[in-house]
Amino acid sequence: MGGLPVSDARFLEALVAAAMASPCPQWAVEVETGLCLFLNPAAEDWLRTSRLQLPDEAAILRAIERAHAERGTPMMLTQDLAAGPELLRREWLRRRSDVPARRDSDWYEVIALRVTTPDGEMVLRRARAVADIEVSLAHGGDLRETLAAAVGLETPAGVALGRVDREDGLARWTYRDGLFETLRVDAPAAETLRRGGMAPFDTLLLRAAMLQAQAATWTLMLPEPQGPAQQPWLLSLRPRPSPAAGEPAPVLAQLHALPASRGELDAAGRTAAPLPGLAQFQCRADGSFTYLSEGWRALTGVPVDHALGRCLTDFCAAPLSRDGLALLAPVLVDGAAGCRHEWPFPRADGELRWLELRLWPDSADARRFSGTLADITERYRAQRFRQIMETALEHTVNGVVITDATQRGNPIVHVNGGFSAISGYSAAEVLGRNCNFMQGDLRDQPEVEAMRRAIARQEALTVVVRNFRKDGTPFWNQVELSPVQEPLTGLVTHFIGLQTDVTLKRQAEDANVLRALELERVFRGSPFGMVTFDATGRVRLLSPAFLKLLALPGTRLMGATQAELVAALSQALGVADTPLAWPEADAHVRWELPGEPVRILDVSLFHLGKVTGEQIAFFRDVTAEQTESATKSQFLAMAAHELRTPMGSICGFTELLLMRNYSREEARPMLETVLRQAMRLSTLLNDLLDLSQMDAMGAHAFPVGPVGLEGVMQRAVQVAVMPGSGRSIEVQLPPGSPRVQGNATKLEQVLINLLSNAIKYSPGGGVVRLRAEADAASGACRIAVSDTGLGLSEAHRARLFTRFFRADPSGPIPGTGLGLVIVKELVERMGGHIDVESELGVGTTFILTLRLSP
Ligand code: ADP
Repeated sequence: MGGLPVSDARFLEALVAAAMASPCPQWAVEVETGLCLFLNPAAEDWLRTSRLQLPDEAAILRAIERAHAERGTPMMLTQDLAAGPELLRREWLRRRSDVPARRDSDWYEVIALRVTTPDGEMVLRRARAVADIEVSLAHGGDLRETLAAAVGLETPAGVALGRVDREDGLARWTYRDGLFETLRVDAPAAETLRRGGMAPFDTLLLRAAMLQAQAATWTLMLPEPQGPAQQPWLLSLRPRPSPAAGEPAPVLAQLHALPASRGELDAAGRTAAPLPGLAQFQCRADGSFTYLSEGWRALTGVPVDHALGRCLTDFCAAPLSRDGLALLAPVLVDGAAGCRHEWPFPRADGELRWLELRLWPDSADARRFSGTLADITERYRAQRFRQIMETALEHTVNGVVITDATQRGNPIVHVNGGFSAISGYSAAEVLGRNCNFMQGDLRDQPEVEAMRRAIARQEALTVVVRNFRKDGTPFWNQVELSPVQEPLTGLVTHFIGLQTDVTLKRQAEDANVLRALELERVFRGSPFGMVTFDATGRVRLLSPAFLKLLALPGTRLMGATQAELVAALSQALGVADTPLAWPEADAHVRWELPGEPVRILDVSLFHLGKVTGEQIAFFRDVTAEQTESATKSQFLAMAAHELRTPMGSICGFTELLLMRNYSREEARPMLETVLRQAMRLSTLLNDLLDLSQMDAMGAHAFPVGPVGLEGVMQRAVQVAVMPGSGRSIEVQLPPGSPRVQGNATKLEQVLINLLSNAIKYSPGGGVVRLRAEADAASGACRIAVSDTGLGLSEAHRARLFTRFFRADPSGPIPGTGLGLVIVKELVERMGGHIDVESELGVGTTFILTLRLSP
């Protein structure tokens, strides 16, 4: 005989779908090859194996043995069923002693069904933890006695009589009562799924058991009469004598509600509701207890005597103490077949427990009701914890994305609310897609490549990538990627991606980096020397300008305290005897550094941040500034002095002349002095005016261009030699009338000045020469003015060209001490320079060098 015939493809589909969703481990093996056809997630969990590696029968058995069953348990599932005549076989495996058990049995039931489909024959298997009651019933225990012993009460029973049609293999009832009808025991598969009722596997089980015509008892999870919640029922089948030979034997079926959920495996292979936490009760229609089993006290902490005559709701907390009875009214008042509730219950010791309350009317007495209370706190807490975890995960601001690496393209299988908040995509918009759509066109980011590599190598990785929200705006996404391994094989089946929007942080960081770069540029490029100090007052950075300013190698000074820095600088600058002063914060000091010339540094110290204690010192060379301002005030003082002297004598003589009546002869020398001094004053003022004009106009004081040298030299000689003075100048013109870069008027002024000086400072006469020679090779023209007069000492030569310098200020030769300063200024502004050669008592030569004009 083959397997149970199942030809309906819809049924087969429903069978597999239901098996996949079932919390009981289920799988199927092809009889011919022994290969696994499917394995539901509960079985994967239970067998610690993976759908990725569909095992064969032998591997499954080994896995069961290894993970759950005690060695030596008879395991005849494969060979016997495939070869033997049985449609249905139930085996019991004793639980391995180290597998935790929280229920009253240490047995598993593995039911095997042989099924013939259009595609071939297969064996369907389902594993369940079973209660002792089922084991004992299966081994011939009396149903009534066993039930009475286990539950202590009569439970409602449904009865049906039926047989299986050999043609289509379907069970058909010739009689069934209301309970069988309500619970849809035997409903065809498609109906089952739509309206709730027996699972497809159980319908097969029922048909196989009826066909085998053997006594059988097992638990079924069936929907409660008034709702979709699943409740365990005990189904027992007893064959009846066949009315006619060759006819299938009719079967008497009975259903008994079991008081607490049992026989159902949770993911860890344990049943959820332990029998020890069970209390039975009977009550009246007003809810008052007429009977309570001893379990009551253990469950609630309230003595039985104390509770009898009172209502369950009397012991409940609000709002159940108020509304609880109304919730039970459908059974107590309206005649419903039963109900089930999960209620919080404050124990007498103050702990809040969760109780499962079941209530049904007594079959014998319509005014009496029976019920059970089971402690489901642990299950409830676990469920609640899972819910809370899921809620927490859903509401965390971080995005959570889970992808399934076992599917092609590693598609997204879950996203939380945080992901939607960050990306703008709803879950429906991204499920089934690969995460890479988030990168838009930026797929060649190195971080993206790193993620691809990490996924390929199944490694964890944290990167920050540029992603795009649904509205197209880019953002920086910090992705913490971690692979999830399957415990038995170590295979990576999923990836969890934790996403954080770090855009603001990244922008702040970028801004900081830019700022740091800017500061670095300022620090490196600034002409001020800068030194920064960390919070402990030690040197952290020295700017290049600082090292240049003080001509120091920087390495030695890194990490030095401020005191050590000052000591090192004093040492290096040779002022160790009078150490340099260090400024207070937000103040400055001046350092005078010895050397030629003396340099003056301004040193100021500032807080970088008052809180952190970091400081910065600035070092500024203020020598030029200082000298300039000193020179200016000196110049003003000298100018005033120079102006006062002639003014003094003009005023003095004029007063004298006014006060008395001098004769013409007497008055003449005085008037001559007044005239001389007035002229001197005028010259002085002209010179000062020239100087200040040049100062004010800078480089654009006068235009510079080609100037014919010959004309300029001749005009200057004419002006310089006073007619009738008896002096003459020897002029030597260069051949070819060269032209120089200059300004004719100013060059003439320069030459007149030098020639007048040469005549003036050779009081004893002598030769004054003016020579010019052009050197085409160097492009320069040298013009020399020489005399054989007083000459200058070396000390005087050094001070020549400074304002108001006169070698003999009180001597008889008139002058302002400004002529040479003006000469030098003018020559330099024409792009040339002036040198002097002189010897005291021998004579002086001034040499102008100007550029030849092409
Ligand atoms: P001033 O002639 O009005 O005093 P200058 O600036 O022309 O002012 O010259 C400055 C000083 O330089 C003169 O006072 C003089 O001492 C010295 N000096 C200038 N030219 C000669 C020269 N040819 N020989 C000797 N001393 C000169």
